[in-house]
Amino acid sequence: MELSVLMEPVTNQNPLERLSAPPMIYKPSSPVEVEVIENTLLTPEDYSEEIRHIVLDLKGTDYRYLEGQSMGVIAPGEDEKGKPNRVRLYSIASPAMGEPGAPSHVALCVKRVAYEESGTSYYGLCSNYLCDVKPGDKVKISGPNGKRFVMPRDPEVDLLLFATGTGIAPFRGFFMRLAGLPAEERSHIVLYYGSRTMKDHVYYNAINNDLGNLADSKNIIHSALSREDPNKKLHVQDRFRLEPGPVEEALKRGNFLIYICGIKGMEKGIEDVFRQIVGEDSWDATKQEWKEKTIWNQEVY
Ligand SMILES: Cc1cc2nc3c(=O)[nH]c(=O)nc-3n(C[C@H](O)[C@H](O)[C@H](O)COP(=O)(O)OP(=O)(O)OC[C@H]3O[C@@H](n4cnc5c(N)ncnc54)[C@H](O)[C@@H]3O)c2cc1C
Repeated sequence: MELSVLMEPVTNQNPLERLSAPPMIYKPSSPVEVEVIENTLLTPEDYSEEIRHIVLDLKGTDYRYLEGQSMGVIAPGEDEKGKPNRVRLYSIASPAMGEPGAPSHVALCVKRVAYEESGTSYYGLCSNYLCDVKPGDKVKISGPNGKRFVMPRDPEVDLLLFATGTGIAPFRGFFMRLAGLPAEERSHIVLYYGSRTMKDHVYYNAINNDLGNLADSKNIIHSALSREDPNKKLHVQDRFRLEPGPVEEALKRGNFLIYICGIKGMEKGIEDVFRQIVGEDSWDATKQEWKEKTIWNQEVY
């Protein structure tokens, strides 16, 4: 797909108007099968967390998406009631024009989920299925899902991004989309990105530096590592509190959208910093307004 086709003009007076996201074409009850092209580790072999970059080929399907939308994946088999396994959502990590040099290729960033119950280890169904797929395997997908967590049409709108863990996935898509455009057509991005250590700071470390390779004067990335140094535990909200400058400037300019993606509960700490910036007295009204105008967007899971 040509990038110029994807850039839609600003059509009305609302600068926060989003690009129009393609509707769901494949329902979970009628998914489409696509081929696995790649499944690579984004974390070191011996690391406690396992996060993978999984590339699927949409060739021959009618699947179209925008950065920020999610894809449904249906693991093979049936649940305990004999019904097909329930769909799980994964943020699309690619720009709408596909992976570089391969327009039909789309990436997901998947963390292998494991949990313990009464001393026994259990493994999340779909994340483990996806983490084990091999090139050439077929995967059933649905979607795309979501209309709001997509970028605005107007490049004058600043993008204030907050990610933890695999919550970085949609923002890789944002960065890659904007990287292909002339400077005047690109929004300013401020990204606060939290993970445990540099080893799971995916897409921004020595294993894969897709974000670092796209960093330029139009974007700022603030990293927060919670377990790299026991004397300096920084969560995403701590980094935001320490370096709120770019966000304060965006708030003064007045045209901005906030996107929060990742671990459930992360929004609370971020909200506290915004409350400090905006002021205790006016925060409740401001947050209400931001929610109503869809300035505040969160996808936490
Ligand atoms: C909009 C959206 C976007 C997402 N994007 C991503 C993404 O980009 N990358 C990504 O890795 N994930 C993403 N997720 C999460 C993903 O959809 C799945 O929830 C995740 O992979 C876990 O699914 P699973 O089938 O592996 O685990 P499941 O089998 O569904 O288990 C999930 C969790 O449920 C709990 N649980 C289930 N059964 C039990 C039990 N018997 N006892 C105790 N606890 C239990 C555990 O806490 C377990 O961790 C996203 C979710 C949403 C809603």
